[in-house]
Amino acid sequence: MMNPTPIPAGMAEPEIRRLPLPEDRDFFAHFPLALALVGRDGGLRVNEKYSALFDPAEIDGGALRHLTETPGPGWRKAGLRSRDGKIIEVHAQAVRLAAGTLILLADDHALTRDDELTHLRERITELEKVSATDHLTGAWNRAHLTRVLHSELSRSLRFRQPLSALLIDIDHFKQINDHQGHQAGDAVLCKVVELIQGKIRSADLLFRWGGEEFVVLAVSTRYRDAHTLAEHLRGLMAGHVFPHGAPVTVSIGVAEHNGQENVEALFSRLDAALFVAKNSGRNRVVTDPRGNSDNWAAEPAPARSLVWRDSNNSGHPQIDSEHRRLVELANTLNTAESAPPAAFDAAVSNLLQALAEHFTNEERLLETRGHPGLAEHRRTHATLLRKAAELRDSGGSLAAGDARRPLIEFLVNEAVARHLFSTDRGLFLSDTP
Ligand code: GH3
Ligand code: MG
Ligand code: MG
Repeated sequence: MMNPTPIPAGMAEPEIRRLPLPEDRDFFAHFPLALALVGRDGGLRVNEKYSALFDPAEIDGGALRHLTETPGPGWRKAGLRSRDGKIIEVHAQAVRLAAGTLILLADDHALTRDDELTHLRERITELEKVSATDHLTGAWNRAHLTRVLHSELSRSLRFRQPLSALLIDIDHFKQINDHQGHQAGDAVLCKVVELIQGKIRSADLLFRWGGEEFVVLAVSTRYRDAHTLAEHLRGLMAGHVFPHGAPVTVSIGVAEHNGQENVEALFSRLDAALFVAKNSGRNRVVTDPRGNSDNWAAEPAPARSLVWRDSNNSGHPQIDSEHRRLVELANTLNTAESAPPAAFDAAVSNLLQALAEHFTNEERLLETRGHPGLAEHRRTHATLLRKAAELRDSGGSLAAGDARRPLIEFLVNEAVARHLFSTDRGLFLSDTP
């Protein structure tokens, strides 16, 4: 279990208020199990089933305190005082959400019936999503961006993979509200998100940054490619016919992580680029032409090897050890560029085999967790393995030197580095605050 990263004060609050919104109030209140949410601010909220059975004081007073402090998967037994003073044995589990720690309490009946359990897993997955996503549009919310940004920036440096961000602001959005009504405005926000989601890659992440502002984090993407993506998005909006009939355009600021800058510095460059886009007529993309990709390319001998540090641990022991092994095998392959064919083939086969096994294990884990992205992960994994096999079969394994580069680069950069970049984030959402 990783240590919780504190969310800056002021960000946790709206998250906690989020649950009592109409849709969630029902969802939370009528959840089939007794639920208690211990907010990051220490506030406590319980659902109907909980109120009917237990006293809220049981949460911080007794058996459940330990659970709140050490959340994690799996059910643990706890004795809880019921409303009428008797101690009841229950199964308890704590799930870390953006809003705080959610405690689920189940009786034997709920846990021994398979159909109930499946249903329950689906509901928990929904609940986890709700806590990290924006209600109106379904994009990831700002609190979630805060959580992922720091780790994405450090991964970017660690694996020498560029990281770019797009700050997208709808032009004259206020006028849409003023002329067509707030509901039409809401519909535009949802449509904009749908259009962006349809265009970005599955490893990229879309966040609602504020009212009519969005952020796309484009992993393994240089500012030049991020600029192209931004231009596509801009054109897509400008060309789309929105239900209210009037055109909608966006202005976009683009920047790539540069040097060792922190989140604030990156965002002030994004803001500045967006400001220029707005002031030069809107419906524009302005890109800050600086980024680590250029710094790295300018270095005389760019290190291709991947570097693993302890801070890279995701918190899941098996996944971590497999990831570490993949990094080792990728580095071995890198050094085998001019090795004799047999040695090179062995390095390729070892890596491919470890990848295939890892993908299978990860899919199994995702399945156990009822992860909603399972099907997509399966497809991505299958595509990576297929492409690798194609590259190998098309002769990449035979000739020494340059002819081996495409296969090496694909395996190291796409299959291993990119995979490490995109997997654990969603996979460990429930453990990783
Ligand atoms: P600019 O081109 O300079 O960005 O102009 P703008 O009108 O888009 O920018 P401004 O910041 O003046 O207005 C943003 C508006 O977005 C004001 C606010 O009422 C509206 N807004 C914020 N959140 C929501 C929301 O969830 N739904 C709707 N319908 N409107 C929202
Ligand atoms: Mg704005
Ligand atoms: Mg705007």
